[in-house]
Amino acid sequence: MFKKEIYEKAMATLKERRGIALTRAAAVHEQMREAVPRVREIEQLMAQSSAKVVAAILDGGNIEKQVEKIKNENLALQTELAALLQKHGVTAGNFEPVHSCSDCQDTGFVDGKPCDCLQRLMREYSCMELTELSAMKPTSFDDLSLEYYSSRADGRTGIAPRAQMRQVIEYCRAYARNFDGHDDSLLLRGPTGVGKTHLSLAIAGEVLSQGYSVVYGPVQQLLHRMEREHFGRADGNTEDVLLECDLLILDDVGTEFSSSFYTSALYNIINGRLMAEKPTIISTNLNQKELTDRYGEQIASRVTGLFEPLVCVGKDIRQQKLKQSLKGE
Ligand SMILES: [Zn+2]
Repeated sequence: MFKKEIYEKAMATLKERRGIALTRAAAVHEQMREAVPRVREIEQLMAQSSAKVVAAILDGGNIEKQVEKIKNENLALQTELAALLQKHGVTAGNFEPVHSCSDCQDTGFVDGKPCDCLQRLMREYSCMELTELSAMKPTSFDDLSLEYYSSRADGRTGIAPRAQMRQVIEYCRAYARNFDGHDDSLLLRGPTGVGKTHLSLAIAGEVLSQGYSVVYGPVQQLLHRMEREHFGRADGNTEDVLLECDLLILDDVGTEFSSSFYTSALYNIINGRLMAEKPTIISTNLNQKELTDRYGEQIASRVTGLFEPLVCVGKDIRQQKLKQSLKGE
């Protein structure tokens, strides 16, 4: 069930779309009447024909003959109008409003049932509402800079953070660009502050720009909301939205409070999306053992076995920026 506010917001959008289509069509029509005054005359004459039929009936006389005459006049007017419009490159269809959705003419309903376009809008607005809670904004890959990652090889792994992160960023960029709604799920793993959130938001920005529904949120916030709804302390359908969105990004997994409700809710979401072949992106600083210790085998095996792992490395970027600003750079 969608919330009332979401439904009203979607209906308001459709009303606005319908209004724009009608205004545009009326403007084209009016332009034509201005440019070719005969069009207006013909339309006025045609509008009078039913009054003429009534007058003929009241008049007595040979009604059939009179009506036949009016009908023929009307046909002649129609032919003249069509020829005039054609001469000016307009078909009668150009005066019809062009609706965003041809199924429901932007009314939101077909035969009394919600149209797909209305359902799509409500899904989109529900996702936006959840993402807005995080106060984070989807961003662009161009804002990701490699300058905060060292180009010197790590003594232990022999890999330079900059080279590693270049690969991770390129992978995520291609992932987002080629997104089709049935992509792999991703596990972004690494210490705090090395860009996992930024990468997630860049993927969100690109995927959103392609028209897919995306929910991004710190896991604590989303689970807390689900819990409040589950126990009747708040209205909403967060679980449905998390299960149904095209891409779900759960940030900071492992930093939320530990509770059996949270663990089973997390399992339901991760498993439900895997079953529906919908991609999820999880970012965490937990390693495999920590994931298992914290969530148990059921969740850990799905995440480590079925998600594509991407390892983020480097030093905390916020701390580096802080040091720079203290040094006055
Ligand atoms: Zn529609």
